[in-house]
Amino acid sequence: PYTGPPAADILAKYKEYLRPSMFYFYSYPLNVVGGRMQYLFDDKGRRYLDAFGGIATVSCGHCHPEVVDAIVNQTKRLQHSTVLYFNHTITDFAEAIANKLPGNLKVVFFTNSGTEANELALMMARLYTGCHDIISLRNAYHGNAAGTMGVTGQSNWKFNVIQSGVHHALNPDPYRGVFGSEGEKYAKDVQELIQFGTSGNIAGFISEAIQGAAGIIELAPGYLPVVYNTIKKAGGLCIADEVQVGFARTGSHFWGFENQGVVPDIVTMAKGIGNGIPLGAVVTTPEIAEVLTCKSYFNTFGGGPVCTAAGLAVLNVIEKEKLQENAFVVGSYLKERLTALKDKYDLIGDVRGRGLMLGVEFVTDHKLKTPAKLETLHIMGQMKDIGVLVGKGGFYGNVFRITPPLCFTKEDADFLVDAMDYTMSKM
Ligand code: PMP
Repeated sequence: PYTGPPAADILAKYKEYLRPSMFYFYSYPLNVVGGRMQYLFDDKGRRYLDAFGGIATVSCGHCHPEVVDAIVNQTKRLQHSTVLYFNHTITDFAEAIANKLPGNLKVVFFTNSGTEANELALMMARLYTGCHDIISLRNAYHGNAAGTMGVTGQSNWKFNVIQSGVHHALNPDPYRGVFGSEGEKYAKDVQELIQFGTSGNIAGFISEAIQGAAGIIELAPGYLPVVYNTIKKAGGLCIADEVQVGFARTGSHFWGFENQGVVPDIVTMAKGIGNGIPLGAVVTTPEIAEVLTCKSYFNTFGGGPVCTAAGLAVLNVIEKEKLQENAFVVGSYLKERLTALKDKYDLIGDVRGRGLMLGVEFVTDHKLKTPAKLETLHIMGQMKDIGVLVGKGGFYGNVFRITPPLCFTKEDADFLVDAMDYTMSKM
C-alpha cells in the first residue's frame, strides 16, 4: 500500500519547485509509485500497461529482478566513481558492449546520459577531423546541451543559444517527406549541403535509424548507405545515435543502424542500456578514440560500478529471455493489428516503425495530412483511463509512440489495440 503524499500535494510542490524543469503527460499527472516488468502502478494501486517504457528507457521490464539484484549487490559492495581505480564491472561491461558491435568499434567511453554521449561523439568527430561542420537531420532530437541542441533539428526543442556549424538535411521521412520512401533521393541533399554550405570537408554526420522523439520515423530505405559514403568522401565521421533505437528494440537487429546495413564510426547509446539507471556510452574505433589522449579525459560517474553492473545484467537478460526475438515477434504482431485499425479509422494516417518501436500518426485529412493533435491527446487520455500508457511525439504532437519494455506480450498488444479501438469507436 502506498503511504506517500497524495498526488495533489506532489503537484503543488512540482509547481513551486520543479516547473519548468519537468513536464508531464495527461491533464492531471499520473502519480506512479511502483513498476513491475511491463506494468506501472499508481498511488491507488491501479495497474497500467506501460507501452512507452519511459521513452524506451526500460528495456528488460520495470524493476526486472535480475537487474535489481545486480544493482543492489553492487551497491552493497562498492559505489564509486569511474576514474582513478580499476573495477571489473566496468571492464566486463565495456567488453560485453564492444562484443555486440561490428567492425573495429571496440573502445568504450561511459557517460551518464544520452546528451553527454552525443556531446562526446560530436567533440571526437571534430577533433579527429579538425573540422567543425556537422550534418544532422531536420526533426532530429539528440540532446539538450550546447552541441547536441545544435544538431537537434526541431524548433519545439531549440533554445536560442549559439549553435554554430550545423547543417540540417532534408529528413528522409517516408510519410511526410517530399520523396516518399526513396532514400537515395533525400541523400542528395547531404551532398549539396557539403558542396554549398561548407568548405567541402566536414566533421561528421549524426542520425538515428528510427527517429524517436520526432515521432517514430524510420529513415527511408537506402538512405544511410549513400549518406555514409558521401560523408566519408568529405572526410567526416558517421555517428549513429542509438539512444532509443538500440538495444534489441527493432527486433530484426540489435542496433538500429544495422537495419540500413551500415557500420558507423561512432555509436552512442543510453536509455535502454541501463533499464532505468543513468548510463550512456560512446563506442568508437581505437584510432578515433586516440584523439582524446592529447588531454586528460574523464567522466566522474559515467559508467561507475553500480551502473555498469546494471548494464551487464541488462545485456544478460536480453540474451537469456530472447528479448530481441520477442521484440520482433510481438512488434510485428502489434504492427499488424495497428495497421488493421488504420483501415478501420480515417483518423489514423500512418502506422510505422519496427519491432517494439512503433508509431501511429493521427490526421484529420489523409491527403493534406492535417495533424490531429487534439484527437491524439484525447485518445491518449482515454487509453490511460482504461489502463494503457502510450507516448506522444512528432513535430505536431500527433503521433503515438509505442516503445514498451521488450518483455511486452501478444496479449499486451491485444489489450493496447483493443483499448485504442474502443476509445476511437466512441469518438
Ligand atoms: N538522443 C536521442 C535519440 C534521444 O531520444 C534522447 C532523449 N530523448 C537523447 C539523445 C538525449 O538523452 P538524455 O535525455 O539521456 O540526455
